[in-house]
Amino acid sequence: MSTARNPPLRHGFRPQTEVPGDIGDSMISLISRLYPMNRSITGDGVRETLRTLTNYIDLRIHEVASGTKVFDWEIPREWNIRGAYIEDSHGNRVVDFDDHNLHVVGYSTPVNQTMSLEELRPRLHSLADKPDWIPYRTSYYNDDWGFCLAHKTLSAMDDGQYKVVIDSTLTDGSLTYGDLLLPGAITDEVIIFAHTCHPSLCNDNLSGISLAVHLAAELAKHKTHYSYRFIFAPATIGSITWLAQNEDNLKRITGGLVLSVIGDDGPLVYKQSRRSDSEMDKAAEYVLNTHFPDSRIEPFSPWGYDERQFCSPGINLPVGRLTRTPHGEYPQYHTSADDLSIINAKSLGNSLLAVWQILGLIENNLSYINTQPFGEPQLGRRGLYRKLGGYQDVADRQLAMLWILNQSDGTNSILEIAKKADMPFDLIRSVADDLVGAALLRPADTLIDKSENDQSGGERQ
Ligand code: ZN
Repeated sequence: MSTARNPPLRHGFRPQTEVPGDIGDSMISLISRLYPMNRSITGDGVRETLRTLTNYIDLRIHEVASGTKVFDWEIPREWNIRGAYIEDSHGNRVVDFDDHNLHVVGYSTPVNQTMSLEELRPRLHSLADKPDWIPYRTSYYNDDWGFCLAHKTLSAMDDGQYKVVIDSTLTDGSLTYGDLLLPGAITDEVIIFAHTCHPSLCNDNLSGISLAVHLAAELAKHKTHYSYRFIFAPATIGSITWLAQNEDNLKRITGGLVLSVIGDDGPLVYKQSRRSDSEMDKAAEYVLNTHFPDSRIEPFSPWGYDERQFCSPGINLPVGRLTRTPHGEYPQYHTSADDLSIINAKSLGNSLLAVWQILGLIENNLSYINTQPFGEPQLGRRGLYRKLGGYQDVADRQLAMLWILNQSDGTNSILEIAKKADMPFDLIRSVADDLVGAALLRPADTLIDKSENDQSGGERQ
């Protein structure tokens, strides 16, 4: 994997301290628009979702045929559904797919029969302890069918006969995913992944989709050092498909984030990549620890979202995961109560800010080489003390200067120096710019550096 850096081309991509005031509202508005669509790992609901995203970003939409082998998996048949219901003997529809997408077990095979409640009951899923909520269930890889309903609805059903209809199709079709590449100064890529397979559920994962879309739209306005690739695909089979189809390009990926459950009120949680000490891991940890006081860092585990695929041993990319309250840790998870009421514009806006700051840090995290490493260079002669006079934080800047000069042997990044010095990244970065201006520092790993290596003395042993 290339870590070579061209001379700094940072183009004003700076970590911001606040997001535009209405961006959270815009994220909510996209979520509201996507909420009624019936998504699954394949099918027209996913296509409609991705088409909607093209109103915001220049997404390319890909179709991968059923039966295509992707690593150890195969693209399944495509599932579509037009309607489904359970009707009692009086003609009342006690459960109707038109009322809520969660009412049908995802990937249910077609059904049209009359049966007793006793026969039907093993196919009915409800939550006794949350009698008003409809659970979310799927059966992607076993031919099966079923309904999900509020427990209070189930409790009210009598022992009569029921007409049960699921008007679905499972046919050879395709899996649909979308991606967008925003080219930067170098071809090394940072990837952002959001899963698209959940039907009417907001935090998991319309929040991740909406955040990624708004991030892409903002990033597209900036020139960046890295290239950024956004992927919108179904969980598990989608990331596996993308990885299998892009295997030759994976070496370009220098970092990434899986975004999910990121719109609720809980503090931010960063889950480390399998490597745990990649630049993405360090940047996310620094930003969360510094700017988001209630946040926490979790070690990698082979459980969760698509980071499992990006961090499988044969792939092992430095891809972490950013969430708020993780999956399974909030009661509304995978139920109809994961609706618009549990997400809010402020949380979404702050989540976007956190991602923006993490990417801004990666964009700006250079390593330098001290061009005068024999003893401390004479700062006064170069006008650096005079320059300090213009700053409020003279003592801090002077100390930062000494830290940077001492640590800049090409092996320590600004972030590492900031941590060692216990000083803000932005301060170290700004002082480094002054030292570059005074020709006391130059970026490490540049072509200039390689050609001048032998004459300028000392920096490379
Ligand atoms: Zn989920």
